[in-house]
Amino acid sequence: MENSKRRFLKGTCALFAGATGASLLATVNASEGAKAESDIKYAMIHDETKCIGCRACEVACRETNQVPEGVSRVRIEQTGPFGEYPNEYYHFSRVSCQHCEDAPCVNVCPTGAAFIEKETGIVSVNAWKCVGCQYCIAACPYKIRFINPVTHAADKCDFCRETNLAQGKQPACVEACPTKALVFGNLKDPTSELVQVLRANPTQRAKVALGTRPKLFRILAKSGEVIL
Ligand code: SF4
Ligand code: SF4
Ligand code: SF4
Repeated sequence: MENSKRRFLKGTCALFAGATGASLLATVNASEGAKAESDIKYAMIHDETKCIGCRACEVACRETNQVPEGVSRVRIEQTGPFGEYPNEYYHFSRVSCQHCEDAPCVNVCPTGAAFIEKETGIVSVNAWKCVGCQYCIAACPYKIRFINPVTHAADKCDFCRETNLAQGKQPACVEACPTKALVFGNLKDPTSELVQVLRANPTQRAKVALGTRPKLFRILAKSGEVIL
């Protein structure tokens, strides 16, 4: 049933390609995203000052969301070493979906497979609607989408929308982090830990100049470089 739906969508996608249909559907998808109004808007903070690079988050994500080897929804990028022996240190930063409020991946998807969940603001993928055209992969300025080699659909972090969140738990990466470097919560709830941490710390988001309005915040570990 799923396969026949996808075959049907693949066919209709081919019809739309190159015609005004694709842009029409893309516009519909974008406006649906823009209509996403509710009391919940989920976001995440990676506090790089607390991150020890243990990668427990990567492992937990893979196990919880059955992400196959060779691809990943979240990875920790290591840079360094900095400083002089014996005081060398590394920086660790999270690479994953930014859950953009104006998401290029959603705007270009011709089938509606890429979407923003209006109740939560989570950017997600309906695998059965995905025809594997990879427009979203090309459009994502953060280069974090991939084709899942098992489902053959576009894939990425969805804050464990269908796994841990559906069971009333925190995302797997947050639960697994031994240093509490990851904070997940509702941007619209002023009492949430997420908002408290955002209020108490200077944060940074990637490529904000693009107007994507990302919802992955970083508390930077990097200090300014001093060259004498
Ligand atoms: S980071 Fe990429 S995949 Fe995630 S919402 Fe933004 S454009 Fe889409
Ligand atoms: S590959 Fe991306 S753009 Fe193409 S149908 Fe799947 S989710 Fe949509
Ligand atoms: S689990 Fe926490 S401390 Fe370990 S790499 Fe991930 S974010 Fe950093």
